[in-house]
Amino acid sequence: MTDLTTSQPVLELSAEFRGETITPQDPDFDRARAVYNGGIDRRPAVIVRPTGAADVMDAVNYARTAQLPLSVRCGGHSIAGTSICEGGVLIDLSSLKGVHVDPDRGTALAQAGVLWGEYDRETQLYGRATPGGRVTTTGLGGFTLGGGYGWLSAKYGLTCDNLVAADIVTADGRLVHVSEDQNPDLLWGLRGAGANFGVVTSYELRVHEIPPLLLAGMLVLPNQDAGGFARAYRDHVEQAPDELGTGMVTVLAPPEEFVPPELVGKPVVALVVAYVGDPAEAVEAVAPLRELAAGGVDLLQPMPYTALQAMIDGFAPKGWLNYHRGMHLSRLSDDVIDDYLEVGKTIHSPMTQGVMFRNGGAISRVPEDATAAGHRAAPYMAHPIAAWNTPDQTDYEMDWVRRFSAAVEPDRTGGVYLNFEPGTTTADVVSGFGEDKYARLVALKDQWDPTNLFRSNHNIAPTGWEPVTIPQQATR
Ligand SMILES: Cc1cc2nc3c(=O)[nH]c(=O)nc-3n(C[C@H](O)[C@H](O)[C@H](O)COP(=O)(O)OP(=O)(O)OC[C@H]3O[C@@H](n4cnc5c(N)ncnc54)[C@H](O)[C@@H]3O)c2cc1C
Repeated sequence: MTDLTTSQPVLELSAEFRGETITPQDPDFDRARAVYNGGIDRRPAVIVRPTGAADVMDAVNYARTAQLPLSVRCGGHSIAGTSICEGGVLIDLSSLKGVHVDPDRGTALAQAGVLWGEYDRETQLYGRATPGGRVTTTGLGGFTLGGGYGWLSAKYGLTCDNLVAADIVTADGRLVHVSEDQNPDLLWGLRGAGANFGVVTSYELRVHEIPPLLLAGMLVLPNQDAGGFARAYRDHVEQAPDELGTGMVTVLAPPEEFVPPELVGKPVVALVVAYVGDPAEAVEAVAPLRELAAGGVDLLQPMPYTALQAMIDGFAPKGWLNYHRGMHLSRLSDDVIDDYLEVGKTIHSPMTQGVMFRNGGAISRVPEDATAAGHRAAPYMAHPIAAWNTPDQTDYEMDWVRRFSAAVEPDRTGGVYLNFEPGTTTADVVSGFGEDKYARLVALKDQWDPTNLFRSNHNIAPTGWEPVTIPQQATR
């Protein structure tokens, strides 16, 4: 039997627990507790690495009985740091890596610790894909349970729209199957607010056939008439087919071979483009964008889906300090374009990016009340990403995100995408879902987690409980 902590009353995990436990005395503890956002510095009392659902049940029962804080981690990409608690039990799902694709059924079954790069590698073998993370190291867990926007989303919806079924360990330590037929209300909640209801141990996700090669890549504008370019981009994508996934980015041009020396280190406007369909049709669909970027850098080429999915990995180093936002926009007006581009010119850090995602398509055809994930009608999402690696840059970078947010304010719907938010008050959580859905989520929480055991998240408090708010993360 394992004595899990030194600082808490000695409780014992089930004798049958097969996984690993790591305590602060362990030489590997600091590596094991590290998360993506280097600004998050928390020390759980114990890190538990289950080998399967039975171990997860033991860990949940242990945390509940010991009355210890509990957190659950898949890829550890939560910018708000919700996947790691101080002084409690961290259920680290990273040893649960199985992915099984069933092409006849059109789904893939993935265990709870799988990252997007790992998942895509397996589904690609069958010529299939699920809309998923645009960086390979992001976890399936927090991503899917919080909504999930990927390059395929305009064509195939949010990741949570593709969630067919799940197994989940609930607060009372039971393993529950969730699907359209079994516990459909809980499936509704898992599709966007899933971190609140238990520990999901496996996901069944729809997989879609995709061509072996997709026309995708990046266009970097020549350093002129960014306003004209951004307006023309907007006008093009608003009538483009769902196959075209895009995002506009303001960033410092990286010191890469393909970047003309005079642009390196300068603020530029770039487009990331992915056409999910026949590359021959794609040539026509992207031609106007290519024309707009003529004289700049054109890196569009046919590539496997896994290459597209890894394309921006270099802009996502683990351990840098991070501060992000995710704000839904009802339109992209000329004035907001101009202000967004102005703020882009003030980027200081090589990893800071001002992203403007085009959404719409299949995302917006799912009825708003069909899933907990919301704000489906919003055609754009403004996503400032500040990432820096020395604490003396902190004030500048956080202020840059605030200036970016002020620039897009006139076009905001008021809704936020919680998966991109750095901290949340109850009002923020409500604006992540909308008031009606929030009320429905509270009722679901009353049913499945009435004592708020799962509260290290963008918290939906059960009736009678104070919601747990997350301060906007101060950084080390
Ligand atoms: C570099 C980077 C790129 C990103 N790209 C995108 C993008 O393209 N599109 C997009 O929509 N979002 C994107 N995000 C945001 C991303 O969706 C969230 O950060 C998401 O929470 C990451 O999931 P994770 O499993 O890695 O996170 P974690 O930090 O491990 O978990 C996040 C939350 O989910 C909970 N959770 C995780 N697994 C489970 C489980 N099995 N059961 C219950 N709760 C669980 C955790 O407790 C925590 O509250 C990105 C983030 C980063 C840092």
